[in-house]
Parts: sequence; C-alpha cells; structure tokens
Amino acid sequence: MSYDNLSGRTAVVTGAASGIGAAVALRLAGSGARVALLARRADRLETVVAKIRANGGRALAVTADVTDDASVQAAADAVHTAYGTVDLVVNNAGVMLPHPIDDGRLDEWQRMIDTNVTGVLRVLRAFTADLVEAAAQGRTADLVNVSSVGAHGVFPTYAVYGATKAAVTHLSQLLRTEFGPRDVRVTNVEPGLTETELADHIGSAELREQLGGMFEGMGSLAAEDIADLVGYVTSRPRHVNLRQVVVLPTRQV
Ligand code: NDP
Repeated sequence: MSYDNLSGRTAVVTGAASGIGAAVALRLAGSGARVALLARRADRLETVVAKIRANGGRALAVTADVTDDASVQAAADAVHTAYGTVDLVVNNAGVMLPHPIDDGRLDEWQRMIDTNVTGVLRVLRAFTADLVEAAAQGRTADLVNVSSVGAHGVFPTYAVYGATKAAVTHLSQLLRTEFGPRDVRVTNVEPGLTETELADHIGSAELREQLGGMFEGMGSLAAEDIADLVGYVTSRPRHVNLRQVVVLPTRQV
C-alpha cells in the first residue's frame, strides 16, 4: 500500500473544471479515489474526466453552479446515485474580483460572497450527512476548504475577496467543533500565488497587470502543488487532522 493510498474513498471536488480543482481531482483519482467533479463548464469537466480515465482512474463530471441551491442539490443527487455516500469533500470553487472599494461593485461583491462563502455552505449542506455517516461507519471522512492567504494578508482592492476567504478560514475552524467529535476531519488550505485561471476574471486590466507583476516578482505555485498537499492531508491516518495549511511560493512573504 502506498503511503498516500486513497483507494476506497469517494470524493467530490468543486471548481474542478480548471486550476486547483482540476489538479486536485486528478491527484485524488491518481491515488485511487472515485472522484465527482463539479463546476459549470461541462466541456472542461469532461476533459479532466477523460484524462483521469485515460490514467486508469474513476471519475464523473457533474455540471453544477454553487450559487444555485437547486443545482447543488441536483448535483448531490447525481453523485449519490452514481457513487453512494461521499467521504471526501473539497470545497474549492471560487472567484476573485478585485476593484477599489470606491467603485462600489455590489455585483462583484455579491458574486464573490455567493460563490466563495454561501457556495461553500451549500456544498457543505448537501454532503454533511454523508461525511458524518461515513465517519460513523469507521471510514475516514474529510472536508477540505480552499481558502487563501488573502484571508490574512492585506492588499488594497482585494478587501471583499479577502473578507470572503477570512470567512472560509474561520468557518473551517468553527466546523471542527461540530465535526471533530464525530471523527470528520476539517482542513483549511490557504494557498499563495498559484498559476490558474483565477486572474482571467479580473475586470480591470490595470489590476490584472499588477497581479501579473506579483507573479513575476515572487514566482508561483502550480495547481499540482496544492493538489499534492490535498492528497497528503486526506491520506493521513484517520486520527490525524491537519487543521490549517498555508502554502506559499518560497519567495512570497
Ligand atoms: P480557477 O479560475 O482556475 O478555478 C476556479 C474554479 O471554480 C473553476 O473550475 C470554475 O469552473 C469554478 N467555479 C467558479 N464559479 C463557480 C460556480 N458558481 N459554481 C461552480 N463552480 C464554479 O482558479 P483557481 O484554481 O485558482 O481557484 C480555485 C480556488 O483557489 C478558489 O477558491 C480561489 O479563491 C483559491 N485560491 C487561488 C489562488 C491562486 O493564486 N490561484 C490563491 C489562493 C486561493 P466553472 O467556471 O466551469 O464553473
């Protein structure tokens, strides 16, 4: 048995169409887990699923929008029908939309809150019973929330994004008080600069360039680096819970 064996595990990864989520799905499937991949872009999910299957892994694409209650519930139903009880949930879907606070971009604030915070809660609600049940059966059960170093860092124009991630970080810590006693682990992962599609959605060319400059200056992690970490924390023995992991490019302070 390899040290990071995840065979027998059933995982759900949100935001698995690109970036960190896609890499996490590939990593978990590569270690033997069955993985349901959730995101809105069906074509991109199918591409990742095809890659997993070509590597001999098991995966399922489920189109879902985490800002929509019915969509998340329908996705959970599809996952249950295909795979039964889930024991590993990676809450990764997220958007980062910086703008000066003076711009008053209520539309972007709402989208970030609804995706990064309420989206996490919707997914949590859909799979809480699974995690609790799996743990009660003696299986290893994991909730992994992908927050950000932005939960602590202070960057101008990223106030609302940082606030959503601070909410995720604190939520993760609080959830341990309810899940831990029932043997469900909760891990909060806070990545630093990571090469993905996240910056593509930034509306301001100036802010996109500013972020590009940070990537050039400090270097960046690959999505696979974060995936490797998720594979590591979820494959520890059942009584070991890495509660909080901050992972940065070496030059990022
Ligand atoms: P990407 O933009 O590459 O990935 C984001 C994923 O989320 C996509 O698969 C996207 O798929 C999905 N997504 C977005 N909105 C929704 C929605 N409403 N419903 C379902 N899925 C959605 O960026 P990353 O991989 O970087 O982002 C993953 C997470 O990592 C985010 O939570 C981000 O905040 C966090 N993070 C990223 C860092 C970085 O430097 N890249 C640093 C710290 C944290 P689709 O559009 O098809 O729905």
